[in-house]
Amino acid sequence: MTDCIFCKIARGEIPSKKVYEDEDIFAFHDINPHAPVHFMIIPKQHVASLDEADMSHQSVLGKIMAKSGELARSQGLNDGFRMIVNTGRIGRQEVYHLHVHILGGPEPLGPMVTRR
Ligand code: AMP
Ligand code: ZN
Repeated sequence: MTDCIFCKIARGEIPSKKVYEDEDIFAFHDINPHAPVHFMIIPKQHVASLDEADMSHQSVLGKIMAKSGELARSQGLNDGFRMIVNTGRIGRQEVYHLHVHILGGPEPLGPMVTRR
């Protein structure tokens, strides 16, 4: 996807505050953080959302999960964190390149979702 903003970030065409990169995944800080530490992990391969993912993405999605603790600790999250994957309209996804948010800070985060 040439015009996808997160593809461009993964290719280094748009600057980002990089956390980690390997051949499969890219991690960078959110430009509008919702917590003292807030970064995202994305597959380098374009996948629009978790709704579009299938078994061909098993390996890269597993890698994102398996790397999350190490990357969180690298950003000072030594006592846990929250992983969020906003998906589709109901999940209020804004950027349609699958991304896993990692959030945390010195204090426990707010409730998982706002009840209404
Ligand atoms: P979501 O609502 O899950 O689709 O989240 C998209 C996230 O991408 C938001 O938290 C935005 O702040 C973040 N974002 C959008 N553009 C950029 C960018 N150029 N660099 C870093 N984060 C971005
Ligand atoms: Zn993309």
